[in-house]
Amino acid sequence: MERYDVLVLGGGVLGCFAARHLTRWGFHTALLEGREDLCTGTTRANTAIVYTGCDTPPGTLKTRLCVEANRTFDDLCAQLGVPFARPGSLMVSCGPRAQRVLERKLRQGQENGVPGLRLLSGAEARAMEPGLTEEVTGALYAPGTGTVNPWELGLAAGENAAANGCTIILNAQVTALFSDGPDWGAETARGTFRARAVVNCCGLYADQVQELVAEPSVRIFPGKAEYLVLDDTVDHAPRHILFHEPEEKGKGLTVVPTVEGKLLLGPSEGPGADKDDWSTTARGLDFLRTWTARVLPELDLSQTIRSFGAIRPNPFYVYPEGETWVREEKSIHNFTIQNPRPRFWSFLGIKTPGLTCADGLGRYVAGLVAEELGRKEPNPAFDPVRTPPVRVKELSFEARAALIRQNPAYGKILCRCGEITEGEVLDAIARGAVTLDGVKRRAGTGLGRCQGSVCAGKVMALLSRELKVPVENLRRDGPGTNWLGGNDRGTL
Ligand SMILES: Cc1cc2nc3c(=O)[nH]c(=O)nc-3n(C[C@H](O)[C@H](O)[C@H](O)COP(=O)(O)OP(=O)(O)OC[C@H]3O[C@@H](n4cnc5c(N)ncnc54)[C@H](O)[C@@H]3O)c2cc1C
Repeated sequence: MERYDVLVLGGGVLGCFAARHLTRWGFHTALLEGREDLCTGTTRANTAIVYTGCDTPPGTLKTRLCVEANRTFDDLCAQLGVPFARPGSLMVSCGPRAQRVLERKLRQGQENGVPGLRLLSGAEARAMEPGLTEEVTGALYAPGTGTVNPWELGLAAGENAAANGCTIILNAQVTALFSDGPDWGAETARGTFRARAVVNCCGLYADQVQELVAEPSVRIFPGKAEYLVLDDTVDHAPRHILFHEPEEKGKGLTVVPTVEGKLLLGPSEGPGADKDDWSTTARGLDFLRTWTARVLPELDLSQTIRSFGAIRPNPFYVYPEGETWVREEKSIHNFTIQNPRPRFWSFLGIKTPGLTCADGLGRYVAGLVAEELGRKEPNPAFDPVRTPPVRVKELSFEARAALIRQNPAYGKILCRCGEITEGEVLDAIARGAVTLDGVKRRAGTGLGRCQGSVCAGKVMALLSRELKVPVENLRRDGPGTNWLGGNDRGTL
């Protein structure tokens, strides 16, 4: 059994960045992920926004990491070869109560050091976004708000960690943890792994994993969220990220023009869900449609190509009462990073802006591990740069022709909506995709208007050939999603 310096449990965006920064310190690191691929949890279902830091109070870890992350996000994405856009955002109000929220966020943002914030009148906001309703009375403009594809960022960090020596072990759900002298041990279906330290990044399950070694102190209560995705051909699409601050108390609408050119609407805010319940509800989707019609009345919702569900990992402190644990009334707002046992750290219920701050959180926890394990100097051989995949449609005609001469697979268009070639799919499989959605998350197939109707069969055939797995054993994404021969949604 191999012994590591550090085990990272969970391979979402936080686990991938923690692993990346642990290799920066030269730690012999293994990342244990329960599923068959990285970034299949909350990391694949969120709003994809890189926040500026005006939403949280000054002086917190969340605010500090968010402001810093926003400032350095271009550099991070350049290192990791991940597309990043900074369309800026308008937080719009339609009345006096919402206007006061905007004014408070302006003051807070200025105190937090967020550059370029400006209050606009309703007319000024509509001049920037002509599709906005006449009811908009004001807006807070934040030029630094950005958007990134969340799974692309997480997978890139995971690849970079692996290139710097981290061992990634998939299908390794941690079922038990034990301490044995100076070591921690983790039991999984792939065997037992030992290390001097553990970083628990198990997302929605981080509380349960921590409770394998410590008394409960924070528990994660899931909450439902839903999204709609509109095609890139939709008319009257906003160019900025829009946050709608409703006049009534409660959640408004968020609209994001994504780096892929689609329009993301959401999230809705629903009552508690199961930790594995990624379904959508008619109620949640209706909420999104109703608010969209009010805020962007011209937007054609018939251009919706997809809906999907997400789960909020809401953390609450709990205290014992008799035989049970009772949760405090209010959810925890700051990032919760606990160190309940020596050389054991947990990220517990890291919600928004966890994606924005993933690199900062990884750096932060790796620093704590380095201090505890007495590591003084970072690894001089660490290479922060990842070689990104080729995106054929972004190449010039000449570069494309040269690539196709070298490898004809880059000349065969496989996904027509995204103009993605067989060469790109083969590269995605070589980088670790084992499911249809694993290919989607790496190459971008199936994201377009037809949602994979044209390319799914061809992608499955390539997966089957390259992985030497019968096609009926291949999955769309995770347990119960066998594409052929029956799955949770019936047989193809
Ligand atoms: C609705 C919503 C919208 C959001 N929008 C934004 C946004 O716009 N901008 C922003 O900055 N942030 C946003 N966030 C926050 C951000 O998405 C999260 O902070 C981030 O994705 C959390 O990543 P994670 O790695 O902790 O969790 P996950 O991605 O869930 O990863 C956890 C991993 O642990 C694995 N795992 C679980 N149990 C075990 C086990 N026992 N053994 C091994 N592996 C295990 C899981 O399989 C999973 O891969 C949003 C969050 C939500 C819910």
